Amino acid sequence: MNQDTSSPAATGSLSVAQARDAILRGLAPLTGRQRVAVRDALGRVLAEDVIAPFNVPAHDNSAMDGYAVRAADLAAEGDSRLTVVGSAFAGRPFSGLVGPGQAVRIMTGAAIPSGADTIVMQEVTRREDGAGKDTVLIPPGQRTGQNLRRAGEDLAAGSVALAAGKRCGPAELGLIASLGLGEVTVHRRLRVAFFSTGDEIASIGQPLGPGQVYDSNRYTLHGALSRLGCEVLDMGVIPDQPAALERALQDAAAAADVILTSGGVSVGEADFIREMLARLGEVAFWKLAIKPGRPMAFGRVGDAWLFGLPGNPVAVMVTFYQLVQDALLKLMGITPLPEPAVFSAFASSAIRKQPGRREFLRGTLGWDAGRRTVTPAGAQGSGILRSMSEADCFIILPEAQGSVAAGDPVLVQPFDGLI
Ligand code: AMP
Ligand code: MG
Repeated sequence: MNQDTSSPAATGSLSVAQARDAILRGLAPLTGRQRVAVRDALGRVLAEDVIAPFNVPAHDNSAMDGYAVRAADLAAEGDSRLTVVGSAFAGRPFSGLVGPGQAVRIMTGAAIPSGADTIVMQEVTRREDGAGKDTVLIPPGQRTGQNLRRAGEDLAAGSVALAAGKRCGPAELGLIASLGLGEVTVHRRLRVAFFSTGDEIASIGQPLGPGQVYDSNRYTLHGALSRLGCEVLDMGVIPDQPAALERALQDAAAAADVILTSGGVSVGEADFIREMLARLGEVAFWKLAIKPGRPMAFGRVGDAWLFGLPGNPVAVMVTFYQLVQDALLKLMGITPLPEPAVFSAFASSAIRKQPGRREFLRGTLGWDAGRRTVTPAGAQGSGILRSMSEADCFIILPEAQGSVAAGDPVLVQPFDGLI
């Protein structure tokens, strides 16, 4: 084999990392924002810091069911006998003062009554009723200030509870609500238009003509984009005709922030598209050192960003998740971008590979004697979508990597959290 294929630069192609950097460098988050009710903030990206308007918790309170006491009353040795003068419940504080020799029965979450500085847990105490006096015995060994939750220990008033750029999940909704806030400011949704190209592509509902295939890319992209919380604009299938493509691109650029196309960027097809895109905007055609998914276009058409993905269904998914998804997250305002969850697993079978491209195989994770293993998931052709469905991870074989022997460690990226 040709030795020059061992590095992307040597083949005149761009590495995945170079392409990612080039894409992310130019993008800036959307500027549009809107106020939404807390529940509607699920999946949305905060456009402003959320500031705690008061201390959380608002007052010192008990972390235990037990007795609120004055540490100064407690003997170093032997039990201390205190008079129980009342009770404090969460939401129903004890309004009096805990004086010398006194204690107040207290429940978890109840405000610490004035005078008390220490909570003794219920389980170590002994209650004595008698002679008209209600008393409690406290054993030695208590620490001053124990079992208290301090006002502001979760969040101090004025501090940043959630930073701009955070995508809201269930924990964030709860945190926002705990601050008494009914609304937050989020980035507007990213609008993404997409279409498939190719004279051979039929839409579902139509009979398949000779040599035709049903469009699957629009459905994988619909799924991927909807998961991200984008507003999706499905523009259908566009035939390989310059006028139709030009109109579709112009319509998409007018309606959306991002245009995703699939098909039509491979060497044989790119020529008229290249010429057209040079007129409509500024688009680079890349030969990527990636498998599957070598050809890709990236740039601007009007005010929209264009990602021209290859046509093969698996190549669409690989390039989307490796190169497009983080770009969309950045446009959506998410910061910092999530670190890719990549770890090492042992290949349970040999994998053939030539050095040169970064390969993304579909794999299935397993365990063997306490070690993470991974097995290629069936046939790996770039048109074989079934292996994407059967797999639960990408097996990543970096550019310089050659064939892998069974038992060798390889990098894996789980689909969970990615796809
Ligand atoms: P292209 O990149 O246009 O040369 O397409 C590469 C391969 O992917 C061809 O076999 C196409 O038929 C197939 N293909 C392109 N677009 C789609 C699509 N939307 N759904 C399913 N297969 C597609
Ligand atoms: Mg095509």
